[in-house]
Amino acid sequence: MLNLDTDITYLKGLGPERASTLKKELELFSARQLFAHFPFRYIDRSAIVSIGDIHSEDAFIQVKGRLGQVKEIGAGRKKRLEALLTDDSGVCKLIWFKGLKWVKPSLITGKNFVVFGKPQRFGATYSFAHPEITPEEKFQVSVQAFEPVYSSTELLGKKGLHSKGIHKIIKQNLPEFLNQYLENLPSELIHKYKLLSRAEAMRGIHLPRNMNEVKAAKRRLKFEELFLLQTFLLYKKLITLNHNKGAVFSEVGNYFNRFYKEVLPFELTNAQKRVLKEIRVHTRDGKQMNRLVQGDVGSGKTIVALMAMLLGIDNGTQACLMAPTEILARQHFLGIQKLVEPLGLGVALLTGAVKGAERKKILADTKSGELKILIGTHALIEDKVSFGNLGIAVIDEQHRFGVAQRAKLWAKNNPSPHVLVMTATPIPRTLAMTLYSDLEISVIDELPPGRKPIKTLHKRDSHREWVFGFMEQEIKKGRQVYVVYPLIEESESMDYKDLMDGYESITRRFQPPAYQISIVHGKMKPEDKEWEMQRFKTGITQILVATTVIEVGVDVPNASVMVIESAERFGLAQLHQLRGRVGRGAEQSFCILMSSNKLSANSKKRLSTMVETQDGFKIAEVDLELRGSGEIMGTRQSGDSDLKLADLVYDANMLAVAREEAKNIVEFDPNLEMKENQALKMELKRRYADKLIWSKIS
Ligand code: ADP
Ligand code: MG
Repeated sequence: MLNLDTDITYLKGLGPERASTLKKELELFSARQLFAHFPFRYIDRSAIVSIGDIHSEDAFIQVKGRLGQVKEIGAGRKKRLEALLTDDSGVCKLIWFKGLKWVKPSLITGKNFVVFGKPQRFGATYSFAHPEITPEEKFQVSVQAFEPVYSSTELLGKKGLHSKGIHKIIKQNLPEFLNQYLENLPSELIHKYKLLSRAEAMRGIHLPRNMNEVKAAKRRLKFEELFLLQTFLLYKKLITLNHNKGAVFSEVGNYFNRFYKEVLPFELTNAQKRVLKEIRVHTRDGKQMNRLVQGDVGSGKTIVALMAMLLGIDNGTQACLMAPTEILARQHFLGIQKLVEPLGLGVALLTGAVKGAERKKILADTKSGELKILIGTHALIEDKVSFGNLGIAVIDEQHRFGVAQRAKLWAKNNPSPHVLVMTATPIPRTLAMTLYSDLEISVIDELPPGRKPIKTLHKRDSHREWVFGFMEQEIKKGRQVYVVYPLIEESESMDYKDLMDGYESITRRFQPPAYQISIVHGKMKPEDKEWEMQRFKTGITQILVATTVIEVGVDVPNASVMVIESAERFGLAQLHQLRGRVGRGAEQSFCILMSSNKLSANSKKRLSTMVETQDGFKIAEVDLELRGSGEIMGTRQSGDSDLKLADLVYDANMLAVAREEAKNIVEFDPNLEMKENQALKMELKRRYADKLIWSKIS
């Protein structure tokens, strides 16, 4: 008997040549992989729709009627065939542009046909272009009532492996393999959620008789995917938690206490206090902390991170902070330097721009352990940077970094430093737990007191004069203004032109000596960027014209107006980040979204969402809705999830249930030793063989 790992070459009805094309085109090598190539939709050919009832262009449908006169219209290459099809309820039109020679003989006027295709509306009638037609008397015998549709490629199609061909192969082979799909879920779950067995589900998804069978099969398979993924992720986390040692921050010492009493310029919010406590508990028992701090823009993550770093220094270790851009790194450096100077602590900044003797000294002091706080860009994780005793590493704006960078930080010390990653990109909780599965999650769900909501307006380009007037009025009150332009890689040169044109028209309108303007963009040298940023920060300039380099983290409390040009070109997360640059001081702040007059439905939704809400979680939900989880996963650490059917967003409810069940099992039987968990353990090993060091599970 062939097993599921058999090469597809040996399957019935395929042959070496077609097998090799399948491997090349769809990367299906084994029987198991072929059977995991699931249909992406189904055609229900058991139903016949009355022609008069056709009301949408959405789906392939089937109608039955009497064929009218067949007309040849046009000449030469533009020639086409048209015929009407009539039933008791109405008339529709059938059209062929190609293959007329082949079609024509079968089109017999007056005969009844079953016609299958996708209707398209022209005026009051629907027409079918290139429909599949079957004489009524042959219909029952020749056509399968319910048919799955598989993705295929042109090349496969040429070899008879279009959707139907693939289905045929699966139909021929799958039944013999079904008894090898042994149950891999604990039977308790099967009963509790009334799931099909694995074998039933495999049959149901490939060889269903109706849509109900498909639904039940999909439900089972989705649950399986989500449950296995969650079990794996929880397991992995368990191993990390139990096996990685970290520095012991046993005491809250002088630096922390003095900072809290003498330096901290405000009262911490309750959320900040809670998160600090979570960090404290997590870093004192000798196990490494990997924690994500999720908090909306402006919620005050930096102070929390700094205090965690002070805790590390109090316990004889060094701390570092890594930011995604030079500007942000420098801003953190200046801000933190000011805060810890009274404590007599040294801080250094390391970026690509720091060179020569200065760099040498920083590297030496870092290595000797003399330097307590190192702040920088990803320059921090270069091999040349080594620490005397790094106890804690903070990563700001995690969404800009991947797992690989985190791993590099881990390697900077033995034991690995505690890692605190901070993100302002809010995502629903179960999704966060899946994407950042190896992190504990802390949430700062409270803004510092006294923040006024930002007023957000959407203005068309034609209202530019009004916007300039508004900027002028705010500047006269002593405020500062950001004007941000999009910069998309693909249209870089056009975008720079827009930026420079915009800058010019602003300089024409806002002239010295009354007004000073800064400009910052990616093509400038770091030191020039920095100079311009400083002029804005210190209030010498009132307007900062910039590309999205200022998207994350920049903190200028006196800036109260954010104008976003071509706002329709930004994603929601970016708009939210940009808006978060204002509303940091005591003054009423404004965000003005500029856009062209013509907007897609999607853009409209994004802009209206921004106008309606400032809640980062709500914005994230709309973002997920508009973009789907695929894209979001793609930009994150998606390596662990190989979901074929389930979707982390659309199946969020099932995801939550699966996670809960996985948690029960992993907590109750951490080594999966119980008899009823053996099949599960084997399946996990098989699926995630390369992603876990299984020997660590004893
Ligand atoms: P984010 O979470 O977006 O990184 P920051 O850490 O930059 O936010 O903090 C935003 C601003 O709020 C900073 O100016 C910071 O000093 C201030 N801030 C932080 N915590 C508090 C607090 N508890 N009370 C008042 N202001 C605070
Ligand atoms: Mg920040």
